[in-house]
Amino acid sequence: MKLQRLHVTCAQCGQDSSVSVMPDGVHGQFVLRSIGSLEEAFLNAVQDPTYDEVEHLINHSRRLIGKDNWFRAHALQRTYGEIACDPDSTGSFFNIGKLPNCPKCGHATLHSWRPMSPVQFVDRDIAPVTHRAWHALSEAQKAFRVDDVLEARGF
Ligand SMILES: [Zn+2]
Repeated sequence: MKLQRLHVTCAQCGQDSSVSVMPDGVHGQFVLRSIGSLEEAFLNAVQDPTYDEVEHLINHSRRLIGKDNWFRAHALQRTYGEIACDPDSTGSFFNIGKLPNCPKCGHATLHSWRPMSPVQFVDRDIAPVTHRAWHALSEAQKAFRVDDVLEARGF
């Protein structure tokens, strides 16, 4: 897949480096990352049925009664990786929309990031997210899991 390179500066070690992220304007495709490692996992939300499944459960969760569509979409993006995706090798949950950790020291907080100038792209393969734990749940357990994660994340 085609990723865009960003120039980043780390908030922890202060070093400059570069990372690659999904370019703006790509619909429904995400690179998931955790705070615990430099591992990445690819999600094509248009083709992965678990995304629609979690979206449906979130839209019907009693925790989000009375919330508007924007808020529900926000809750879905914030919780989907923890709800339905297997964690990385360190046990940390993958998240949609998380910037990469610093490639130099592994710290999860970047001080700044901006596109390379001129704009640069790289072609990389990233393994898709897996859903072994999610698929092992019953329908009732899936609904409980959605509510549990929503609660834990403050929704
Ligand atoms: Zn660093």
